[in-house]
Amino acid sequence: MKDNSGREINYLRISLTKNCNLKCIYCLPEKTEHIEEEELSLEEILKIVKNAIKLGINKIRLTGGEPLLRKDLIEIVKEIKFLGIDEIYITTNGILLEEKLEDLKKAGLKGINISLDTLEKELFKKITRGGNLDKVISGLLKAKGMGFEIKINSVIMKGINENSIIDLGEITKKYNIDVRFIELMPMGEGKKYKGINNKEIYKNLEEIYGFQKDFFQIKGVSEYYKLVDGKGKIGFISPINNCFCENCNKIRITSTGEIKRCLNMKSNINIKDYLKSDEEIENILKIEINKKPEKHLFGKENIDEERKNMNEIGG
Ligand code: SAM
Repeated sequence: MKDNSGREINYLRISLTKNCNLKCIYCLPEKTEHIEEEELSLEEILKIVKNAIKLGINKIRLTGGEPLLRKDLIEIVKEIKFLGIDEIYITTNGILLEEKLEDLKKAGLKGINISLDTLEKELFKKITRGGNLDKVISGLLKAKGMGFEIKINSVIMKGINENSIIDLGEITKKYNIDVRFIELMPMGEGKKYKGINNKEIYKNLEEIYGFQKDFFQIKGVSEYYKLVDGKGKIGFISPINNCFCENCNKIRITSTGEIKRCLNMKSNINIKDYLKSDEEIENILKIEINKKPEKHLFGKENIDEERKNMNEIGG
C-alpha cells in the first residue's frame, strides 16, 4: 500500500531476537548479557505476515540481533514461503551461516546480507569483540556457491576501518557480489563513533579503481555503481549525507512486537495487542504505515528519538 507521502510500502523487516553472538563496538555495549524477552513466536509472526500480504507486502527480511540464533529460523522461513512470499532474506553476521545453509535453501530463503566491516582478521576481531572472520568468509563463499543472492553490508568509521574500504570494494571486482556502504547512524553505541561520509568512500574508490561511467541504479534506499571491470555492484546507503527517506519502502517489527515506522523514532504500538483477529492486525499495520514520517530526524532535536541500539530494533 501507499503511505501518506505516496511511497509504496512493500517491504517488512522482522527482528527475531535482540540477542547476538557478536558485540560490534558501534552496535552493542561491551557488557551486554543474554537478553530475556518474549520474542514473537512462529505463530505470531505468521499471523502478522499473512495480514501484511493483504496490504501489499511482498518482501520480508528476518534480522536481529542475530537471526541465526533463533532455533526455529528454518521453520519461520519455510512457513513464510508457504504463505506465498518468494522474496525472503536474512541479515546476519555470518558466524553460524555455513552449517545452516542447506536447510535455509530448502526452506526457500532467497538471499543473505552479510555484515562485514573489514577483511583484516585482527581488526574484525576488534570491531566485533571476538568474532572469527574465517567463519564468516567460508559461510559467505559457500552461500554464493549455492546460488543465494549475497550482499555485503559495511559500516566505515573514522580511525577504525577506513583502510578497509579498498579491500571491501575489491570484492566486487573478483566476485559477482554487491558491497554496500552504510553510513553510521548516530544511535545507541553508534553515537560514540564518527562515521565516514559515503561521498568520501566514493572518492576513495574512484581514485583507486575508477567507476564505470554508464552504470547507475537506485533500488530502495541504495544507490548502485560499478567499479571498472567490476562484476558486483558498489552500493551506497546514505541516511546521513543524502537523506534516503524518499525511497524508504519498509516497515519494521521488533522481536517483541513493536511496530516501527522509522528507524529513528520510538515506537508506541505493539502488534501483540492486536493479534486477536486478522482484521485488527491488518488495521493496525495500515494505520502505522500511513503514519510513516516523511523524513527521519537524525541529528535534530526530536522528542520521539529512538534511543535503542540497532540490535534492539532490527537493523
Ligand atoms: N546480526 C546481524 C548482522 O550482523 O547483520 C543483524 C543485525 S545488525 C544490528 C544489522 C546491521 O546493522 C549490521 O549490518 C550493522 O552493521 C548495522 N548497524 C548497527 N548499528 C548501526 C548504526 N548505528 N548505523 C548503521 N548501521 C548499523
